[in-house]
Amino acid sequence: MKKRKSQEVRVGKVKIGAGAPVVVQGMTKTHTEDTAATIEQIRKLARAGARIVRMALPTMEAVKALSQIKKEVDVPLVADIHFNHQLALEAIEEGVDKVRINPGNMGKDKIIEIAKRAKEKRIPLRIGVNSGSLEKDLLENNPAWEKVSQIRGKEHRRIIAEAMVKSALRTVRLLEKENFLDIIISLKASNVLTTILSYQLISDRIPYPLHLGVTAAGSSPQGIIKSSIGIGMLLAQGIGDTIRVSLTGDPVEEIKIGYGILGALDLYKDKAILISCPTCGRCQVDLKSIVQKVQPRVEKIKTPLTIAVMGCEVNGPGEARQADIGIACAKKGGVLFKKGKVVKKVKEKDIVKALLEEIKKQESREK
Ligand code: SF4
Repeated sequence: MKKRKSQEVRVGKVKIGAGAPVVVQGMTKTHTEDTAATIEQIRKLARAGARIVRMALPTMEAVKALSQIKKEVDVPLVADIHFNHQLALEAIEEGVDKVRINPGNMGKDKIIEIAKRAKEKRIPLRIGVNSGSLEKDLLENNPAWEKVSQIRGKEHRRIIAEAMVKSALRTVRLLEKENFLDIIISLKASNVLTTILSYQLISDRIPYPLHLGVTAAGSSPQGIIKSSIGIGMLLAQGIGDTIRVSLTGDPVEEIKIGYGILGALDLYKDKAILISCPTCGRCQVDLKSIVQKVQPRVEKIKTPLTIAVMGCEVNGPGEARQADIGIACAKKGGVLFKKGKVVKKVKEKDIVKALLEEIKKQESREK
Protein backbone atom coordinates (compact mmCIF):
# COMPACT_ATOMS: atom_id res chain seq x y z
CA MET A 1 0.00 0.00 0.00
CA LYS A 2 1.26 3.48 -0.85
CA LYS A 3 1.04 5.72 2.19
CA ARG A 4 -0.44 9.18 1.78
CA LYS A 5 2.19 11.81 2.51
CA SER A 6 1.49 14.11 5.42
CA GLN A 7 3.47 16.64 7.38
CA GLU A 8 4.65 15.98 10.91
CA VAL A 9 2.66 17.17 13.91
CA ARG A 10 3.82 16.51 17.44
CA VAL A 11 1.47 15.91 20.32
CA GLY A 12 3.70 16.11 23.36
CA LYS A 13 6.39 13.51 22.73
CA VAL A 14 4.34 11.63 20.11
CA LYS A 15 5.04 12.13 16.43
CA ILE A 16 2.07 11.96 14.06
CA GLY A 17 2.30 11.91 10.27
CA ALA A 18 5.34 12.15 7.97
CA GLY A 19 5.64 8.38 7.81
CA ALA A 20 5.56 7.77 11.58
CA PRO A 21 3.83 4.55 12.67
CA VAL A 22 0.05 4.97 13.00
CA VAL A 23 -0.73 6.20 16.52
CA VAL A 24 -3.53 4.59 18.56
CA GLN A 25 -5.40 7.09 20.74
CA GLY A 26 -7.88 6.60 23.54
CA MET A 27 -10.49 8.71 25.26
CA THR A 28 -11.60 8.71 28.88
CA LYS A 29 -15.22 8.14 29.81
CA THR A 30 -15.02 9.56 33.32
CA HIS A 31 -16.18 13.00 34.41
CA THR A 32 -12.83 14.74 34.09
CA GLU A 33 -13.27 16.73 37.30
CA ASP A 34 -13.26 13.39 39.13
CA THR A 35 -9.47 13.45 39.03
CA ALA A 36 -8.87 10.13 40.82
CA ALA A 37 -11.12 8.18 38.43
CA THR A 38 -9.76 10.03 35.40
CA ILE A 39 -6.12 9.46 36.34
CA GLU A 40 -6.83 5.77 36.93
CA GLN A 41 -8.54 5.44 33.56
CA ILE A 42 -5.77 7.29 31.71
CA ARG A 43 -3.20 4.95 33.27
CA LYS A 44 -5.22 1.92 32.22
CA LEU A 45 -5.48 3.27 28.68
CA ALA A 46 -1.75 3.98 28.58
CA ARG A 47 -0.97 0.47 29.85
CA ALA A 48 -3.18 -0.93 27.09
CA GLY A 49 -1.12 1.02 24.54
CA ALA A 50 -2.90 4.37 24.11
CA ARG A 51 -0.16 6.80 23.09
CA ILE A 52 -2.38 9.87 23.42
CA VAL A 53 -5.51 10.25 25.58
CA ARG A 54 -8.36 12.72 25.00
CA MET A 55 -10.68 13.96 27.69
CA ALA A 56 -13.99 15.77 27.49
CA LEU A 57 -13.74 19.22 29.08
CA PRO A 58 -17.31 20.51 29.14
CA THR A 59 -16.95 22.79 32.20
CA MET A 60 -14.34 25.04 33.81
CA GLU A 61 -14.26 22.61 36.74
CA ALA A 62 -13.13 19.87 34.36
CA VAL A 63 -10.52 22.20 32.82
CA LYS A 64 -9.14 23.09 36.24
CA ALA A 65 -8.59 19.38 36.96
CA LEU A 66 -6.17 19.19 34.02
CA SER A 67 -2.98 20.36 35.70
CA GLN A 68 -3.32 17.83 38.51
CA ILE A 69 -4.13 15.03 36.05
CA LYS A 70 -1.15 15.99 33.91
CA LYS A 71 1.23 15.68 36.86
CA GLU A 72 0.09 12.12 37.47
CA VAL A 73 0.27 10.66 33.97
CA ASP A 74 2.93 10.32 31.34
CA VAL A 75 0.84 10.17 28.18
CA PRO A 76 0.08 13.36 26.16
CA LEU A 77 -3.40 14.72 26.85
CA VAL A 78 -5.92 16.23 24.47
CA ALA A 79 -8.70 18.61 25.47
CA ASP A 80 -11.99 17.91 23.72
CA ILE A 81 -13.80 21.25 23.52
CA HIS A 82 -17.21 22.18 22.16
CA PHE A 83 -19.22 25.43 22.19
CA ASN A 84 -17.14 27.46 24.68
CA HIS A 85 -13.76 28.68 23.44
CA GLN A 86 -12.83 29.94 26.92
CA LEU A 87 -12.52 26.30 27.96
CA ALA A 88 -9.98 25.75 25.19
CA LEU A 89 -7.99 28.87 26.15
CA GLU A 90 -7.88 27.76 29.77
CA ALA A 91 -7.01 24.17 28.87
CA ILE A 92 -4.03 25.51 26.91
CA GLU A 93 -2.95 27.52 29.97
CA GLU A 94 -3.29 24.37 32.08
CA GLY A 95 -0.73 22.66 29.85
CA VAL A 96 -2.77 20.39 27.60
CA ASP A 97 -0.83 18.88 24.67
CA LYS A 98 -3.45 19.32 21.95
CA VAL A 99 -6.94 20.79 21.60
CA ARG A 100 -9.71 19.25 19.54
CA ILE A 101 -12.22 21.80 18.34
CA ASN A 102 -15.43 21.17 16.45
CA PRO A 103 -15.98 23.82 13.74
CA GLY A 104 -19.68 22.94 13.85
CA ASN A 105 -20.08 24.60 17.22
CA MET A 106 -17.27 27.15 17.41
CA GLY A 107 -17.32 30.50 15.57
CA LYS A 108 -14.47 31.65 13.31
CA ASP A 109 -13.27 34.42 15.64
CA LYS A 110 -13.15 32.01 18.55
CA ILE A 111 -11.20 29.46 16.52
CA ILE A 112 -8.67 32.14 15.57
CA GLU A 113 -8.30 33.10 19.23
CA ILE A 114 -7.68 29.48 20.19
CA ALA A 115 -5.16 29.08 17.37
CA LYS A 116 -3.22 32.16 18.50
CA ARG A 117 -2.96 30.82 22.04
CA ALA A 118 -2.07 27.33 20.77
CA LYS A 119 0.68 28.83 18.62
CA GLU A 120 2.17 30.63 21.61
CA LYS A 121 2.28 27.34 23.51
CA ARG A 122 3.36 25.37 20.42
CA ILE A 123 0.58 22.84 20.59
CA PRO A 124 -1.47 21.50 17.67
CA LEU A 125 -5.19 21.71 17.04
CA ARG A 126 -7.39 18.98 15.69
CA ILE A 127 -10.23 20.15 13.50
CA GLY A 128 -12.68 17.46 14.48
CA VAL A 129 -15.63 17.51 12.08
CA ASN A 130 -18.54 15.31 13.03
CA SER A 131 -21.53 14.46 10.81
CA GLY A 132 -23.88 15.06 13.72
CA SER A 133 -22.78 18.65 14.40
CA LEU A 134 -22.08 20.39 11.11
CA GLU A 135 -22.32 24.19 10.82
CA LYS A 136 -25.87 25.38 10.23
CA ASP A 137 -24.99 27.43 7.14
CA LEU A 138 -23.58 24.33 5.44
CA LEU A 139 -26.90 22.64 5.91
CA GLU A 140 -29.45 25.44 5.62
CA ASN A 141 -28.09 27.12 2.48
CA ASN A 142 -27.52 23.86 0.76
CA PRO A 143 -30.37 22.85 -1.60
CA ALA A 144 -29.06 19.27 -1.59
CA TRP A 145 -29.29 19.16 2.18
CA GLU A 146 -33.01 19.93 2.13
CA LYS A 147 -33.67 16.55 0.57
CA VAL A 148 -31.06 14.66 2.59
CA SER A 149 -33.58 13.29 5.06
CA GLN A 150 -35.70 11.96 2.21
CA ILE A 151 -32.99 10.14 0.33
CA ARG A 152 -30.74 7.26 1.24
CA GLY A 153 -27.76 5.52 -0.27
CA LYS A 154 -24.94 6.93 -2.36
CA GLU A 155 -26.45 10.40 -2.86
CA HIS A 156 -27.16 10.78 0.85
CA ARG A 157 -23.60 9.81 1.74
CA ARG A 158 -22.14 12.15 -0.87
CA ILE A 159 -24.07 15.18 0.41
CA ILE A 160 -22.95 14.58 3.99
CA ALA A 161 -19.35 13.78 3.05
CA GLU A 162 -19.05 16.92 0.93
CA ALA A 163 -20.48 19.08 3.72
CA MET A 164 -17.98 17.56 6.18
CA VAL A 165 -15.07 18.20 3.83
CA LYS A 166 -16.25 21.78 3.28
CA SER A 167 -16.42 22.32 7.02
CA ALA A 168 -12.88 21.04 7.51
CA LEU A 169 -11.39 22.86 4.52
CA ARG A 170 -12.74 26.26 5.40
CA THR A 171 -11.42 25.89 8.96
CA VAL A 172 -8.06 24.80 7.56
CA ARG A 173 -7.97 27.87 5.29
CA LEU A 174 -8.92 30.08 8.23
CA LEU A 175 -6.02 28.72 10.28
CA GLU A 176 -3.62 28.89 7.36
CA LYS A 177 -4.42 32.59 6.96
CA GLU A 178 -3.27 32.99 10.55
CA ASN A 179 -0.16 31.03 9.63
CA PHE A 180 -1.21 28.25 11.98
CA LEU A 181 -0.19 24.97 10.37
CA ASP A 182 0.02 22.63 13.32
CA ILE A 183 -3.18 20.90 12.28
CA ILE A 184 -4.69 17.42 12.41
CA ILE A 185 -8.03 16.70 10.71
CA SER A 186 -10.79 14.22 11.44
CA LEU A 187 -14.04 13.69 9.54
CA LYS A 188 -16.13 11.24 11.49
CA ALA A 189 -19.59 10.05 10.46
CA SER A 190 -21.64 7.30 12.01
CA ASN A 191 -22.06 5.74 8.58
CA VAL A 192 -18.98 3.78 7.54
CA LEU A 193 -19.15 4.57 3.83
CA THR A 194 -19.73 8.29 4.50
CA THR A 195 -16.69 8.30 6.77
CA ILE A 196 -14.54 6.59 4.14
CA LEU A 197 -15.74 8.92 1.37
CA SER A 198 -15.07 12.03 3.47
CA TYR A 199 -11.45 11.06 4.16
CA GLN A 200 -10.93 10.06 0.53
CA LEU A 201 -12.27 13.42 -0.66
CA ILE A 202 -9.98 15.43 1.59
CA SER A 203 -6.87 13.27 1.56
CA ASP A 204 -5.10 14.88 -1.41
CA ARG A 205 -6.34 18.42 -0.75
CA ILE A 206 -4.38 19.07 2.44
CA PRO A 207 -0.93 18.10 3.75
CA TYR A 208 -2.00 17.61 7.36
CA PRO A 209 -2.18 14.30 9.24
CA LEU A 210 -5.56 12.57 9.37
CA HIS A 211 -7.07 11.17 12.55
CA LEU A 212 -9.41 8.30 11.64
CA GLY A 213 -12.53 7.10 13.39
CA VAL A 214 -16.15 6.12 12.87
CA THR A 215 -18.26 8.12 15.28
CA ALA A 216 -21.06 6.64 17.40
CA ALA A 217 -20.17 3.20 16.06
CA GLY A 218 -22.17 1.51 18.83
CA SER A 219 -21.37 -1.34 21.17
CA SER A 220 -19.74 -4.68 20.45
CA PRO A 221 -19.96 -6.41 17.99
CA GLN A 222 -21.45 -3.72 15.71
CA GLY A 223 -19.04 -1.00 16.89
CA ILE A 224 -16.04 -3.24 16.35
CA ILE A 225 -17.21 -4.22 12.89
CA LYS A 226 -17.97 -0.64 11.81
CA SER A 227 -14.69 0.72 13.20
CA SER A 228 -12.64 -2.09 11.71
CA ILE A 229 -14.13 -1.66 8.26
CA GLY A 230 -14.07 2.15 8.28
CA ILE A 231 -10.62 2.63 9.76
CA GLY A 232 -9.23 -0.53 8.14
CA MET A 233 -10.29 0.31 4.60
CA LEU A 234 -8.77 3.78 4.82
CA LEU A 235 -5.51 2.51 6.31
CA ALA A 236 -5.35 -0.15 3.59
CA GLN A 237 -5.50 2.69 1.06
CA GLY A 238 -2.61 4.42 2.80
CA ILE A 239 -4.86 7.07 4.38
CA GLY A 240 -4.59 7.84 8.09
CA ASP A 241 -1.90 8.77 10.61
CA THR A 242 -3.67 8.19 13.91
CA ILE A 243 -6.81 6.31 14.92
CA ARG A 244 -9.37 6.05 17.65
CA VAL A 245 -11.94 3.29 17.89
CA SER A 246 -15.10 4.51 19.65
CA LEU A 247 -17.33 1.94 21.29
CA THR A 248 -20.21 2.20 23.72
CA GLY A 249 -18.28 0.27 26.33
CA ASP A 250 -14.92 -0.18 28.04
CA PRO A 251 -12.37 2.34 26.67
CA VAL A 252 -9.56 -0.20 27.13
CA GLU A 253 -11.34 -2.43 24.59
CA GLU A 254 -11.13 0.46 22.12
CA ILE A 255 -7.34 0.38 22.37
CA LYS A 256 -7.19 -3.38 21.90
CA ILE A 257 -9.39 -3.16 18.81
CA GLY A 258 -7.25 -0.29 17.51
CA TYR A 259 -4.12 -2.41 17.72
CA GLY A 260 -6.05 -5.35 16.30
CA ILE A 261 -6.85 -3.27 13.21
CA LEU A 262 -3.21 -2.20 12.83
CA GLY A 263 -2.00 -5.77 13.38
CA ALA A 264 -4.40 -7.16 10.77
CA LEU A 265 -2.96 -4.71 8.24
CA ASP A 266 0.68 -5.39 9.18
CA LEU A 267 0.94 -1.82 10.47
CA TYR A 268 1.94 -2.78 13.96
CA LYS A 269 4.86 -5.05 14.63
CA ASP A 270 5.51 -5.03 18.37
CA LYS A 271 2.73 -7.42 19.19
CA ALA A 272 2.06 -11.10 18.63
CA ILE A 273 -0.76 -12.30 16.41
CA LEU A 274 -2.75 -15.45 17.10
CA ILE A 275 -4.09 -17.20 14.05
CA SER A 276 -6.76 -19.75 14.89
CA CYS A 277 -9.23 -21.52 12.65
CA PRO A 278 -12.98 -21.29 13.24
CA THR A 279 -13.18 -25.11 13.62
CA CYS A 280 -15.66 -27.26 11.76
CA GLY A 281 -16.80 -30.88 11.58
CA ARG A 282 -13.26 -32.01 10.76
CA CYS A 283 -11.81 -30.79 14.05
CA GLN A 284 -11.19 -33.57 16.57
CA VAL A 285 -9.77 -31.62 19.51
CA ASP A 286 -11.30 -28.97 21.79
CA LEU A 287 -9.68 -26.15 19.84
CA LYS A 288 -11.79 -23.42 21.41
CA SER A 289 -10.54 -24.28 24.88
CA ILE A 290 -6.91 -24.40 23.64
CA VAL A 291 -7.26 -20.95 22.08
CA GLN A 292 -8.93 -19.52 25.19
CA LYS A 293 -5.93 -20.65 27.27
CA VAL A 294 -3.26 -19.45 24.85
CA GLN A 295 -4.88 -16.11 23.86
CA PRO A 296 -4.28 -14.21 27.16
CA ARG A 297 -0.61 -15.17 27.04
CA VAL A 298 -0.27 -14.08 23.42
CA GLU A 299 -1.86 -10.71 24.21
CA LYS A 300 1.02 -9.95 26.59
CA ILE A 301 3.76 -10.58 24.04
CA LYS A 302 5.55 -7.43 22.91
CA THR A 303 7.48 -8.97 20.05
CA PRO A 304 6.24 -9.61 16.51
CA LEU A 305 5.47 -13.33 16.77
CA THR A 306 2.84 -15.20 14.81
CA ILE A 307 1.28 -18.17 16.57
CA ALA A 308 -1.07 -20.49 14.71
CA VAL A 309 -3.54 -22.85 16.37
CA MET A 310 -5.29 -24.89 13.70
CA GLY A 311 -7.93 -27.59 13.86
CA CYS A 312 -6.96 -30.20 11.27
CA GLU A 313 -4.74 -31.27 8.41
CA VAL A 314 -6.63 -29.22 5.76
CA ASN A 315 -5.08 -25.81 6.47
CA GLY A 316 -3.32 -26.65 9.73
CA PRO A 317 0.16 -27.69 8.57
CA GLY A 318 0.29 -24.81 6.05
CA GLU A 319 -0.58 -22.11 8.57
CA ALA A 320 1.49 -23.66 11.36
CA ARG A 321 4.51 -23.87 9.08
CA GLN A 322 4.20 -20.21 8.02
CA ALA A 323 3.88 -19.03 11.65
CA ASP A 324 6.75 -18.62 14.13
CA ILE A 325 5.10 -21.26 16.31
CA GLY A 326 2.15 -23.37 15.27
CA ILE A 327 0.15 -26.41 16.10
CA ALA A 328 -1.71 -28.39 13.46
CA CYS A 329 -4.17 -30.60 15.28
CA ALA A 330 -5.35 -34.03 14.26
CA LYS A 331 -7.17 -36.82 16.14
CA LYS A 332 -6.60 -36.28 19.90
CA GLY A 333 -3.38 -34.34 19.42
CA GLY A 334 -1.32 -32.23 17.09
CA VAL A 335 1.99 -31.55 15.41
CA LEU A 336 4.01 -28.67 16.84
CA PHE A 337 5.91 -26.48 14.37
CA LYS A 338 8.57 -23.89 14.97
CA LYS A 339 9.87 -21.59 12.23
CA GLY A 340 8.53 -23.91 9.57
CA LYS A 341 9.94 -27.14 10.99
CA VAL A 342 8.23 -29.96 12.86
CA VAL A 343 9.30 -30.02 16.51
CA LYS A 344 7.26 -32.93 17.81
CA LYS A 345 3.90 -34.65 18.06
CA VAL A 346 1.87 -33.62 21.11
CA LYS A 347 -1.11 -35.24 22.82
CA GLU A 348 -4.23 -33.08 23.12
CA LYS A 349 -3.85 -32.66 26.89
CA ASP A 350 -0.28 -31.33 26.40
CA ILE A 351 -0.94 -28.88 23.53
CA VAL A 352 -1.38 -25.74 25.67
CA LYS A 353 1.71 -26.50 27.76
CA ALA A 354 3.81 -27.21 24.65
CA LEU A 355 2.68 -24.01 22.95
CA LEU A 356 3.31 -21.87 26.03
CA GLU A 357 6.79 -23.35 26.47
CA GLU A 358 7.70 -22.66 22.85
CA ILE A 359 6.28 -19.13 23.09
CA LYS A 360 8.41 -18.44 26.17
CA LYS A 361 11.59 -19.75 24.50
CA GLN A 362 10.92 -17.83 21.30
CA GLU A 363 10.10 -14.65 23.15
CA SER A 364 13.36 -14.65 25.07
CA ARG A 365 15.24 -15.30 21.84
CA GLU A 366 13.58 -12.33 20.10
CA LYS A 367 14.38 -9.89 22.92
S1 SF4 B 1 -8.42 -25.99 9.68
FE1 SF4 B 1 -9.60 -27.89 9.63
S2 SF4 B 1 -10.83 -27.83 11.48
FE2 SF4 B 1 -10.14 -25.76 11.13
S3 SF4 B 1 -11.78 -24.84 9.96
FE3 SF4 B 1 -10.26 -25.54 8.50
S4 SF4 B 1 -11.00 -27.56 7.90
FE4 SF4 B 1 -12.09 -27.04 9.79
